[in-house]
Amino acid sequence: MIRNRRADWRRIKGKLSYTIDEAAHALGTHRNTVRHWVKKVGLPAMTEARPHLILGGDLVAFLRARRTARKRRCGPGELYCLRCRAPRRPVPGLLEYRALTSTRARIVGICSTCEAILHRFVSTHRAAAVATEFNLQIEVRHESLADSALPSLNCDSSTPATT
Ligand SMILES: [Zn+2]
Repeated sequence: MIRNRRADWRRIKGKLSYTIDEAAHALGTHRNTVRHWVKKVGLPAMTEARPHLILGGDLVAFLRARRTARKRRCGPGELYCLRCRAPRRPVPGLLEYRALTSTRARIVGICSTCEAILHRFVSTHRAAAVATEFNLQIEVRHESLADSALPSLNCDSSTPATT
């Protein structure tokens, strides 16, 4: 099963019907994956005749529901752990905020349950909110003051804060 590649339902036309192969092709996934969805996971299909047909609308609804179920929302101060497959609290004090671009940053932490690396992309507009949420010290710079020669910001206590 391909876990990293997320099936892209935007390529599915709701009003068309698809064979297993066509659906797999449109989604860039393996036909066995689609077959598995039909047989085990509850994707509706017309299986009275061959080839079995899946309605595009059913497929889209199925993938949407699946993603919502998977994407469990993180509560305040939680990051999603891919290993635990659940939102987890990061180990306090070992969090890092890394600015990636002028608009995007990443919070990196360690799962307090399994010690895997956790991360979440955040918009730099939300830096202040994120700082409060994770009890981080983030130096929020205005773009006009941003010095691109500086390495990315982090909350490592060994880095003295410049004021
Ligand atoms: Zn974990």
